[in-house]
Amino acid sequence: MKVKIHSKHVDFKLKAAMHSMCGYAISSLGISNRISKNLNLTIHMGHHETEGEARVAKDANRYRPRDFKINLDHHRMEKDDYNRPLEDTEWGHRVLRTLAHELVHVKQYIVGELSWRDAGLLWKGVNHNPDNLLEYYDLPYEIEAHGREYGLLVGFLLVWTGLEKKFEKELNKLV
Ligand SMILES: [Zn+2]
Repeated sequence: MKVKIHSKHVDFKLKAAMHSMCGYAISSLGISNRISKNLNLTIHMGHHETEGEARVAKDANRYRPRDFKINLDHHRMEKDDYNRPLEDTEWGHRVLRTLAHELVHVKQYIVGELSWRDAGLLWKGVNHNPDNLLEYYDLPYEIEAHGREYGLLVGFLLVWTGLEKKFEKELNKLV
């Protein structure tokens, strides 16, 4: 899997965690190594009309997509749902959680549940066009993405904290 992250002012540690999250989520969601090694994920961090979005890349094969573009608007993640500012760690977790959410959509495209056709976005062949936020939360692909994002974050953090500790130990040995 190739992951490219385009961002300004996002620290190295969060970027490293985002790289790892891509591998962790895709494999946790049941995508085989054979497929995941051919994936290209390009992540753009910057202003966007939504907090996150995952799309099949422009020139990709729409019938067998392996190239994806993910947008994450980290500015929209600076406050919680009640408009309270998030602290750094909370903010980092929110970025990772939103990334996990978008990776669920990537999985849906790979297995063909979600597809991009001339008719628009199809879920199992049907185009759902949400008119409002309530209808959005009712979309089957959003139910899955919202249902999986927190578990993916928690599972990832367990692995990630373990890795960080191991690296720290190794680094301390060198001093
Ligand atoms: Zn979504």
